[in-house]
Amino acid sequence: MIEHNISLKPYNTFGIDVQAKAFGRFTSVDELKELLVNRDREMPLFILGGGSNVLLTRDLPFFVLKNEILGVDVMSETDTHLVLKAGSGVEWHSFVRYTVENGWGGIENMSLIPGSVGASPMQNIGAYGAEIKDTFVSLEALHIESLELHTFNKEECAFGYRESVFKRALKDQYVIVSVTYELAKNPKINTTYGAIQSEIEVMGVTDVTVDTVSQAVMNIRRSKLPDPKELGNAGSFFKNPLVSKAVFEQIQANYPDAPHYPQETGEEKLAAGWLIEKAGWKGKRIGNCGVHERQALVLVNYGGATGNEVYDLSTQIIADIQSKFGVTLEREVNIL
Ligand SMILES: Cc1cc2nc3c(=O)[nH]c(=O)nc-3n(C[C@H](O)[C@H](O)[C@H](O)COP(=O)(O)OP(=O)(O)OC[C@H]3O[C@@H](n4cnc5c(N)ncnc54)[C@H](O)[C@@H]3O)c2cc1C
Repeated sequence: MIEHNISLKPYNTFGIDVQAKAFGRFTSVDELKELLVNRDREMPLFILGGGSNVLLTRDLPFFVLKNEILGVDVMSETDTHLVLKAGSGVEWHSFVRYTVENGWGGIENMSLIPGSVGASPMQNIGAYGAEIKDTFVSLEALHIESLELHTFNKEECAFGYRESVFKRALKDQYVIVSVTYELAKNPKINTTYGAIQSEIEVMGVTDVTVDTVSQAVMNIRRSKLPDPKELGNAGSFFKNPLVSKAVFEQIQANYPDAPHYPQETGEEKLAAGWLIEKAGWKGKRIGNCGVHERQALVLVNYGGATGNEVYDLSTQIIADIQSKFGVTLEREVNIL
């Protein structure tokens, strides 16, 4: 069924109230094909998962396709590993918890990232030292024009930091319908990143399992990040910028404590949140939106903000960071 002039407020974690000109849900590849065949070809398409990585700045003159393809299947299994295929509409965190509760390891550090399985390869989601590219095997995607299903392996997805081919060369050409991951039965646990180790100590757990790591990540995230159900947001609004060694050394001369992560390319990755905080934006409110008081990388909707208000705030922050540090911030959130 195709509906018209539907409010997208319940479908985006920023809680922005705009309308979609047309709206349809699909729970299978066949339903998706049917919507695509019967669509008004004049209207651009937008594929919507959990709406946790979008900022909607206007009523969308689009056909919004809401992905609700569910199901998780074990495809193959050895003594040490198993290969799992998940429907792209499965909620990412539920999928993580399902794997963790079975003792399978590989994605536990990415607990509590909102959104759908299908969006996980879009920007190669990552947190606490893990990225989906580390466990990714392949994905199936429907080509919007030919309606053919294609399988993409890891190389073809061209994963990078919050990047994939689906945000670049193949943008708007495919709908991801399933993603396949390989998980370990005797997982190597990674507690080195951020506060995971100290959180596990606070939890008082000595026999550390993937579930312990997942719980620790959930505790840390709940203490640091606003819950979109209470305060609209889309997580990190900006990417951590990559800069040349020369730019970094200039910043370091003024701020010896500037966090930085040397890259194989010789560049340095800076912490966008640190730059925004140093520039004095943390906790700042402008109208109905602002910069979160505990995490400067997160822009929030205090209620009733328009997408343009949030966008304007992000533009001011980008200009300020450019003038203070000579660094250009790039938005991680998809702007529509
Ligand atoms: C509180 C909070 C914390 C977050 N923390 C993190 C984090 O730690 N790490 C991280 O990487 N991200 C994080 N995010 C961002 C977000 O959760 C992820 O980017 C997530 O993968 C988005 O999933 P989604 O289903 O909501 O995508 P949506 O917002 O619905 O869509 C995002 C983009 O992907 C496209 N898309 C979605 N599904 C499909 C599909 N099946 N086929 C083709 N295109 C599709 C959409 O068209 C859109 O361009 C956070 C967000 C919030 C709100």
